[in-house]
Amino acid sequence: MRLFYDLHIHSCLSPCGDADMTPGNIAGMAALCGLQIVALSDHNTCRNTPAFAVCAEKAGLLALPAMELTTREEIHVLCLLPTLPAAAAFSDYVYRRLPDIRNDETIFGAQLIMDAEDTVIGRESRLLTAAADIGIYDAAALAASYGGVALPAHADRPSFSLFANLGFFDPAMGFTALELSPYADPESFRRAHPGLEGLVTVQNSDAHDLGCIRDAAHTLDISERTPRAVIAALRCGAPG
Ligand SMILES: [Zn+2]
Ligand SMILES: [Zn+2]
Repeated sequence: MRLFYDLHIHSCLSPCGDADMTPGNIAGMAALCGLQIVALSDHNTCRNTPAFAVCAEKAGLLALPAMELTTREEIHVLCLLPTLPAAAAFSDYVYRRLPDIRNDETIFGAQLIMDAEDTVIGRESRLLTAAADIGIYDAAALAASYGGVALPAHADRPSFSLFANLGFFDPAMGFTALELSPYADPESFRRAHPGLEGLVTVQNSDAHDLGCIRDAAHTLDISERTPRAVIAALRCGAPG
């Protein structure tokens, strides 16, 4: 089946995420936009994914817990996980590899942890946008060890991307999929970067405010309506 997706949306737990990006608001806006599969992917944490899972189910969406990992090279990598327990364990692993830098809310913004009623239940004190001590060559295998899949995020963008920060793609990194910005042309991007032929390409909003959650435009062909089927589609046959 082909379903409309957006696999890269930030909540108010990301310091750069708007305060209106509550789990309930995101789920409501995603449904209004005609999306069917949605992943909440905050910087280096999955701690708002349990609340989002409840809100997404109420809105009739298939939700995946996710994270936008910042690697040691300051490359953003979108990580999708199959279950909330897997996401919690993955989140704990990444947290232990983040530098202990306190978030200054007046500079970077608040990092709000919410419940499914859109109530603030905590504030993350460690700055979540710092680079985790995890290398780009380890990201795909790490996500796979939690049953997930990892893909270089917004690979066409000039900052925090594989090509901007490292300058090349190496099959030894183990990536089977790649994310581009919503307006990118995947074919011309592949022509400009040989070696990406076998990779699945997805295009997500990377929304940090409600207005940036876009009308449904991109579909993914999945065998069944489950997070595991979404992850399998992005692995394109590679074992995980
Ligand atoms: Zn990013
Ligand atoms: Zn992002």
